[in-house]
Amino acid sequence: MNENDIIEAFLKAKKIKIRCIVCTLVTLLICTIFAGITGSYNWIYLYIIIIVASLFIIWKYWRCPKCNHVLPREMGFEFCPYCGTRVQYKY
Ligand SMILES: [Zn+2]
Repeated sequence: MNENDIIEAFLKAKKIKIRCIVCTLVTLLICTIFAGITGSYNWIYLYIIIIVASLFIIWKYWRCPKCNHVLPREMGFEFCPYCGTRVQYKY
């Protein structure tokens, strides 16, 4: 795996992570609205399911393409903190 492949793989993982976060937030909004409309708190179960699913997806994909170590929570780092491989360029 060369440097460009690693950066591309990291970018893909980053997109997946962002989508998971957006999906969770949208679900929170929808569940809040529906809980308000229906007066039922059962929507919280849907929200919990989405959170668990998102966390699982992030755990599965948010890894260094080189050493496969789970990456830190933030996304701004330039090098993998575990193996030192460059994963993205800071602009
Ligand atoms: Zn690494």
